[in-house]
Amino acid sequence: MIGAGGVATVAAFKIAQNADVFTDFMIASRRKAKCDKIVDDIHKAGYKLDIKTAQVDADDVEQLKALFNDFKPELVINLALPYQDLTIMDACLACGCNYLDTANYEPKDEAHFEYSWQWAYRDRFEKAGLTAILGCGFDPGVTSIFTAYAAKHHFKEIQYLDIVDCNAGDHHKAFATNFNPEINIREITQKGLYWENGQWVETEPLEIHKDLTYPEIGPRDSYLLHHEEIESLVINYPTIKRARFWMTFGQQYLKHLEVIQNIGMSRIDEVEYEAPLADGTGTAKVKIVPLQFLKAVLPNPQDLGENYEGQTSIGCRIRGIGNDGKEHTYYVYNNCSHRAAYEETGMQGVSYTTGVPAMIGAMMFCKGLWSKPGVHNVEEFDPDPFMEQLNKQGLPWHEIHDGDLEL
Ligand code: NDP
Repeated sequence: MIGAGGVATVAAFKIAQNADVFTDFMIASRRKAKCDKIVDDIHKAGYKLDIKTAQVDADDVEQLKALFNDFKPELVINLALPYQDLTIMDACLACGCNYLDTANYEPKDEAHFEYSWQWAYRDRFEKAGLTAILGCGFDPGVTSIFTAYAAKHHFKEIQYLDIVDCNAGDHHKAFATNFNPEINIREITQKGLYWENGQWVETEPLEIHKDLTYPEIGPRDSYLLHHEEIESLVINYPTIKRARFWMTFGQQYLKHLEVIQNIGMSRIDEVEYEAPLADGTGTAKVKIVPLQFLKAVLPNPQDLGENYEGQTSIGCRIRGIGNDGKEHTYYVYNNCSHRAAYEETGMQGVSYTTGVPAMIGAMMFCKGLWSKPGVHNVEEFDPDPFMEQLNKQGLPWHEIHDGDLEL
């Protein structure tokens, strides 16, 4: 596993809890001390799995190759940042390793994500007989598997898909992001995008919003965003007439985000800054990226867990033609408590809902259930064994048939 952040910590705990499947495990990241800390915490919690750790810069293919040739992993779980997807895929190809991630590639200098960069690896993975599993977190990930499950069991034709993501938690901070702040703010400040009648429709950032009612939570203002799973789902389910993604934000969060943008702190280009030298002997001109600097002063998402109350609720609201030829609606979702996630892994619910599916995806691969040479989005695999594990591994799901979807 590469990365030692919030999501990686949860995945590591869950891997240690499933030591019958994961027999040899290594955590490698930019800073080895963070990997060692995760291992300490896992052992303190009573899990016995022997876990190796290593330092690696995942931007450097040669370093990755040296590590993979030494440890010889069957599968590399990429839980670093989207910037590293391609270097890790290159190293996997060079060393004969299979690959899994939770977020699609983004270039550092452009706030733009799409699958084309990773789909360009399809032939190479297929020819090498290697499997790459893309987007195996919650969204993308479980939401795509929920859609595959609905298509397999409940619908002849899925026509309308709305993915709804609510975080009704309270971490008692004025402003914090629930996963890597740089990636999160880049995602939210982009233009919105959805699929309708065979084409993409663009909106201004956060332009479209409406109240949606979430189970056990109630109504929350939900904003239409561009989200990566829509890109592959409309290809894999061509009967979809409209596909959208909604995420809740509170007024306080949006107020801070607006100020951050207005004062230029969400910029991703370099600005020159005259900084005092650490030894006090003068000043030097340095280049900083405002958004990266902002990340350094914002709360670390990994430290939010302790006082986090409330829960997340993420699911798919689907309308289409059922197996009986009549129109039906279907809502499949999971609610996850921040506190329960923290008590189990020391991390909050957003890391939990991403790290658990990453582990389950790895389990599907290791058990031979999801092994198919090429580069695949998760909805291309059998959803059933994955859905069964969600219930066993801490993310139980619920269904509402023929309810009011509000959309
Ligand atoms: P964090 O920033 O907490 O963790 C990222 C980790 O990667 C850190 O340990 C970091 O090192 C390490 N890292 C960064 N750059 C490198 C590098 N060049 N070489 C080696 N290691 C590196 O992020 P999160 O845990 O919150 O998120 C992890 C991933 O999960 C992201 O890609 C995010 O987009 C994705 N995600 C997916 C979701 C989904 O539902 N699909 C939801 C939430 C997140 P260091 O500790 O030294 O900074």
